[in-house]
Amino acid sequence: MRKFHMIVDLEKCVGCFNCMLACKDEHVGNKWLPYTDEQQKHENKWICPTMTERGVAPYTEVTYVTKMCQHCDNAPCAKKYPDVFIKRSDGLMLIDYKRAADKNIVDACPYGMISWNEDLGCAQKCTGCAHLIDNGWKEPRCVQACPLRALQTVFCEDAEWEKIIEKQGLKPITDGSNKPRVMYKNLYFYNKCFVKGALCFDKDGIEEAAVGVKVELLVNKTVVATTTTDFLGEFYIDMIPKNTGDMQIKAYMDGYDPIVKDFEIKEESVVLDAMKFGGGEGKPAVILPNEHAYEQALDHMIPKDVEAAKKAFKEADK
Ligand code: SF4
Ligand code: SF4
Ligand code: SF4
Repeated sequence: MRKFHMIVDLEKCVGCFNCMLACKDEHVGNKWLPYTDEQQKHENKWICPTMTERGVAPYTEVTYVTKMCQHCDNAPCAKKYPDVFIKRSDGLMLIDYKRAADKNIVDACPYGMISWNEDLGCAQKCTGCAHLIDNGWKEPRCVQACPLRALQTVFCEDAEWEKIIEKQGLKPITDGSNKPRVMYKNLYFYNKCFVKGALCFDKDGIEEAAVGVKVELLVNKTVVATTTTDFLGEFYIDMIPKNTGDMQIKAYMDGYDPIVKDFEIKEESVVLDAMKFGGGEGKPAVILPNEHAYEQALDHMIPKDVEAAKKAFKEADK
């Protein structure tokens, strides 16, 4: 049987909240019984993009993780309240609205995706827009409203779904033991770390970006990733598992001793100090303090002549 599955792509989501608004539009002020009673206007969020951040200034990245009921096959909610939750044969999990007048039901979802409707006094959640799907709709309102197709519904056999998971590298948002039907693409933006740094060298007394330089990432003296610096002399290595522990960066530039920098990956991504290759063969590399990177970033952001900048903006406004 073709069953409900959902893909959420973290790389595409920009946190526009259209999905949440579409869900509100569909359910606030509308009773879709027996699927669900109407959604509370404020507070309740059956689908919610949440902002997450990686890195430290001057380099940070923002990713939105959109969560809704995961329509789990091994659902803790249904285990705890077997009379309240209804698992449909197409995989969608519904709440029996007549039996949901217990506020404790909200705590049965480890993803925090059950809402308490204060107005009606009942627990509610995403229905997968079952009332629409049963009437021939190909996708729920939130999916239809996503301008970047960061959400995608897939109705297929479970065996085919397994192939899609493998091909697209989909991951569950937690450990997968609840067997969620919602899977995430590019989840590393949320649950893995990166290391970033910048390399430069002295050229006739002027600091130049070390462009096209080979950079290795090592764990226990074993190279686990290799990259080269870009036109700004910057390198970036992603998808490092959290709590990897001690790691090392090695950078190689002709005519200079390699730069070697130890660091540690715990829960957060690491932005390394700017590093300068030494003055020549045999001379040690110079590790510049982080403030240096800050200054460089600020130099680019703040116009040196504020008055001239203001004047230029005024000219542009005319
Ligand atoms: S996400 Fe929460 S509410 Fe939805 S099926 Fe899983 S445990 Fe139940
Ligand atoms: S599938 Fe329907 S009920 Fe679920 S979050 Fe999307 S719009 Fe809301
Ligand atoms: S509508 Fe799409 S892009 Fe916008 S927040 Fe929702 S999932 Fe992200």
